[in-house]
Amino acid sequence: MHLVITSTVFSVCLPGFLTSFSREAFLFILSCNMMEILQVGNQQIEVAYKPIKNLRLTVYPPDGRVKIAAPQSMTVDFIRNFAVSRLTWIEKQQSRYRLRAAVREKTGLEDPQFIWGVPYRLRIVEKRGNPKMTVENGELTLQVRPGANLEKQQALLDAWRLTAVKETAPQLIEKWERIIGVKAAALYVRKMKTRWGSCNCTRRTIRLNSELVKWSPECLEYVIVHELIHLIEPTHNRNFYRLLTQYMPAWKVLRKRLRLSQN
Ligand SMILES: [Zn+2]
Repeated sequence: MHLVITSTVFSVCLPGFLTSFSREAFLFILSCNMMEILQVGNQQIEVAYKPIKNLRLTVYPPDGRVKIAAPQSMTVDFIRNFAVSRLTWIEKQQSRYRLRAAVREKTGLEDPQFIWGVPYRLRIVEKRGNPKMTVENGELTLQVRPGANLEKQQALLDAWRLTAVKETAPQLIEKWERIIGVKAAALYVRKMKTRWGSCNCTRRTIRLNSELVKWSPECLEYVIVHELIHLIEPTHNRNFYRLLTQYMPAWKVLRKRLRLSQN
C-alpha cells in the first residue's frame, strides 16, 4: 500500500509475545493523565494507551525519544517487559541518531543541493527581512536572517520543497489519471521519513513525500503511477505489478534509484 524507505518502528502482536524479565533494569512508573512515563534502565519511555490491537515502540529522531503506543487492555507489566527486551535495540537506534546529528552539525546542509535530479551549489546569505530561497544560474540561495541556525535553514528548504512538489504533482497526476482511468480524490504532500508515497484506497487520497523534489522527475512520476494503481489494486499482488509494468515498463530502474537515495 505504500513505498517504504526504512523503518525505526518495532511492532509486535499482542498474543504472540511473552518475554523474560531482566531484573537488572530499574523500573518505576510516573502517571500523568492519559500518558505514562515508564522508566526502564536510563530510558524514559512515553506510554500512550490507544484503541489499537498491537503494541508499537518507536524511537524518534533526532533526539532518540522513545514512545510506546499500547492497546488499552494491556497491562503495565507486559509493556515494561517488552520495553526491557528491546533495550539493546532502542540504544542502537539512539546511537545511530546521535551519530547522524553529529555529522549534520559538522557539515551543515548538503552541498550541492539536488532539485529534480540537477545539482545546485548551495549559497547561504544572511540578510534582514523575510527569509527566502531562490534558484538561478546553477545556484540555490538561502536568504536567512543574521544568525539563523541550521534548523532555520533546513525549515526554509523543507517549505520550498513542499511547495515545489505541490505545484508539480497535480499535472502529472492528471496525466496518469487519464491514462490509467482512475481519479484520486485529493493529494497531500509532506516530508516523510519512511515512505515516498502512500495511498488511502478507502478515501481515494494520495500522499507524496516532499523529498521527491531532489530526484529526477521520472521518480516522482513513478511514485504517482504506483499510488494511482493502488486505486485499482490496493495490495502489491501480481495484478498490481502487471499494471505497473504495463504503464511504466522502466519502474524497476526508478525504484532502484529511489532506494539508493536512502543512504
Ligand atoms: Zn504500494
